[in-house]
Amino acid sequence: MNHRLASAAPTRADHRAVHRNNLEVVLRHLGTVGPDSRAGIATRVGLTPSTVSRLVAELLDLGLVREVADAPSSDTPRPGRPAIQLELDGRHILALGAEISVDRITVIGTDLAGTVVYHRDRVFDAARSGPEATAAAVGRLCTRAVDTVVRKSPAHVTLAGLAVAVPGLVEVETGVVTEAPNLSWRGFPFGKVLAEVSDLPPEAIVLGNDANFAALAEYRIGSRAGTPNLIYITGEVGIGGGVIAAGQGLLGSHGHGGEIGHMKLDPKGARCGCGRRGCWEALIGLDALLREAGLDDEPTPPHGRRSTRTAGAATRTAGRGPRQWSASTRAARVAERARAGDRRTLAALETLARWVGIGAANLVNIFDPQVIILGGYFRHVAEWILPAARQVMVEGVLAPDAGGCELAISSLGFEAAARGAALHMIDQVIADPARLAVQAYPKWGVPGPARQRDRARRRVSEPRAATP
Ligand SMILES: [Zn+2]
Repeated sequence: MNHRLASAAPTRADHRAVHRNNLEVVLRHLGTVGPDSRAGIATRVGLTPSTVSRLVAELLDLGLVREVADAPSSDTPRPGRPAIQLELDGRHILALGAEISVDRITVIGTDLAGTVVYHRDRVFDAARSGPEATAAAVGRLCTRAVDTVVRKSPAHVTLAGLAVAVPGLVEVETGVVTEAPNLSWRGFPFGKVLAEVSDLPPEAIVLGNDANFAALAEYRIGSRAGTPNLIYITGEVGIGGGVIAAGQGLLGSHGHGGEIGHMKLDPKGARCGCGRRGCWEALIGLDALLREAGLDDEPTPPHGRRSTRTAGAATRTAGRGPRQWSASTRAARVAERARAGDRRTLAALETLARWVGIGAANLVNIFDPQVIILGGYFRHVAEWILPAARQVMVEGVLAPDAGGCELAISSLGFEAAARGAALHMIDQVIADPARLAVQAYPKWGVPGPARQRDRARRRVSEPRAATP
């Protein structure tokens, strides 16, 4: 936090902040309203035409907007030459989002508009491998992602940066994973190590909690996008939560808010990954369902395309049950059994629905959300748990009919956190477009055009603005 006293006269830093804010206003306007002329932008965002011209020139330089000829309109024919419209570009921007799960690493790359240009999942046992090997694996996968996008792109590619979603408590400022119970990581400087192994400058790497990134993705691009009060619940071995309240992520004083998986619901219940008893995670996490359904000690199944990698992982994790299956495969197995009418599986799903409803009722009493979105594996078992879980939720909430809160299934599935991480990097660019000019990553083979590099040299001597 900046405790310096504000001086009476505006400083150079103030001007820069205003300039950055104006760039953001223009970008957001074009992103939400669509193409507009310079004069139109000036009128609608309340800036002078000369200011808008300067801002647009800078955004054109950065390749974040482009000029297009105004399409002639039949109802308002205008004489003279057609006005030039500006629209959001950013096809050359690559925002990377990665997610580390208990059983896999996901890497997603998008352009500035959020269009996915790269997606890869790799089966990976992060708990077994440890944080250093995991950082190396994330670095390799991201290097490959950049190489692939650069190879396929007709123009230069500028990397906006990499956000990594971690299933646990993360110190966002320092990139330290404070506590990731299901990975058995504690106090590990993941951001610093990842920067070393990937040749990315540390400021280009952002770490965050997986559920918070997933909640951002749901809020922006999910089936309930724009719902200002929503709660996202991860459905994996671990259960995390991301809370959006009045359109803002609720992170708490350390960024540790939303750890709803560790609400204690049954003090005498099963042992949780965090070492305590009866946490919500120990009742509704995927392992709990597999245990109840009697599927936790099934033999290792044959694997598909990833057989070589996964077979190795299976050997290393022998005796740990079917953890080496992907979460999706294991949940699909439960659904298969339920469909076949297996009584033990159906009873396990009934128990699951009750605990989902009880926990959801607590959340509704505290946060009054419009919707609670169940992510990850819940998609596979939705038909058996949703109606009963909603009933239990309504019974447990003080407000009539739980205030109309819905229980819904994520449309983004296991991709949500990585998509949200990439969206976070896009937000960083829109909030401070000039950072693209500062950040050129020659080691990654993705420098901007010569003009941009010249600008970078000029700017790099200026002090960096603090990233929010
Ligand atoms: Zn716990």
